[in-house]
Amino acid sequence: MYYCEKCHSVYDENSCLSCGIEQLRKVRDDDFCFLTTVSENFGKMIIECFKNEGINYAIIPVGDGVRSKFALTLGNYQIYVQYNKFNKAKDIFEFLTENNSTEKLKEKILANVDKWHFENERAKKRVIKKLKLTQDNDLIECIKEKVEQAQSVEDVGLMVDNEHGILVKTDDVILWFSSISFKINL
Ligand SMILES: [Zn+2]
Repeated sequence: MYYCEKCHSVYDENSCLSCGIEQLRKVRDDDFCFLTTVSENFGKMIIECFKNEGINYAIIPVGDGVRSKFALTLGNYQIYVQYNKFNKAKDIFEFLTENNSTEKLKEKILANVDKWHFENERAKKRVIKKLKLTQDNDLIECIKEKVEQAQSVEDVGLMVDNEHGILVKTDDVILWFSSISFKINL
């Protein structure tokens, strides 16, 4: 197996699929390899498990321009683990993801951004006000942030119109999404 020092990725062949560098060197047991990018909260949970399993890891907090625009903290972690424990770390990560309903629901909500909508203008204005935005151009981006950073996302069961309510709790706001139509409410 070969290792790209720039991308921290491992390949069968000696060229990097992501940056194109050729003649990669052989991977060493202690090389840190990119595992995944996850939310800060989920990242903390994964790291706890890695510690218990004796897996050496490295994390890099990452964000994007939007985060600094809203003066929020960096919300995600990139996680790297040493090559000799990479498969074990991957198994743990997959197990935790499968059993973490918050992460699954976040994925579901974020995968349906194109369906997000509000009951009416008043409902939309309420959300804008609650999020302390001065105008609505940033609204969707801001809600995306909130979902990504939420500490908990729960399915609270059947609501009106045969839809389930998905409750998204962050530090400062609670949002509701309808499970099928993706209507947003406070
Ligand atoms: Zn590369």
